[in-house]
Amino acid sequence: MAVSRLGWDLLEPTSTRLVSFKWITGKVRTGDGQVILDYLCERFNSEVEPIVKGWSWGYAKRDVREASGIPSEHQTGWAIDINAPVHGLGLVNTFSNSDESAIHRILKDLGGAVRWGGDYGGRKDEMHFELQGGLALLKRVADKIRAGSSLGSVTPQASKPKPAPKPASTRPTDYAKLATDGKFGKQSVEAAQILMSQIGLYERAIDGELGEYTWKALQEWLTGLGHYGRAIDGKPGYYTYLALQQFLRKKGLYPASKWLLDGKFGPATIAAFQKYLNTQRG
Ligand SMILES: [Zn+2]
Repeated sequence: MAVSRLGWDLLEPTSTRLVSFKWITGKVRTGDGQVILDYLCERFNSEVEPIVKGWSWGYAKRDVREASGIPSEHQTGWAIDINAPVHGLGLVNTFSNSDESAIHRILKDLGGAVRWGGDYGGRKDEMHFELQGGLALLKRVADKIRAGSSLGSVTPQASKPKPAPKPASTRPTDYAKLATDGKFGKQSVEAAQILMSQIGLYERAIDGELGEYTWKALQEWLTGLGHYGRAIDGKPGYYTYLALQQFLRKKGLYPASKWLLDGKFGPATIAAFQKYLNTQRG
């Protein structure tokens, strides 16, 4: 049985053990781990910052970013990313000191069952939380939560409501109405990055920069959709654009009566992709 680095078995996207989870867009694995993640989110939401559901996700079938062949903990259903666009992969100090203390306080109360990506020795991943320690530990911690006993010395403070976080470059309400102008500008790139993040293919900052990592995510996405079968190299060319055109044609946004499948990322292709991104908002 294939297991993750933390020892959990990997799940297929169709697994019945994956269930919707109210805090995030997407799914987590059911069981003791879910009870713990729910407790974590509840307290994170009141003691650290409000959780934005559209920016937070869980299960994804994929490898660790930039480490092909190592399955991501997200593939076990027991890892979640919270408010990803404001705590991008590789960034540090995306939380204030007091927020970081609050996170450590919550994790301490969870008895070591949760590891935070902000505590990684190498590349930090401050959006990321994952379960560790084996099933017996998860059961012990989940039993305590279910019994309603106060886990730690600290009772969650009556929450002073904080405004929801705002990333510098992301205005999630704007991309509802991307102009379908055939120009793949910053807002369009952001919308594509957010969509790729939501389906677990992109974990970097939502910065509107159309670079290698955004294209890698799009290539992986088009591969999963069955339209692309070449290298995931982040260098788009004829085959990447053709795959995108084929996908958009299938969606009825790039009609055969009007446009050719010519493998170019021109205004008609871009406008059709903008239309698709507008349908995916929320
Ligand atoms: Zn993650």
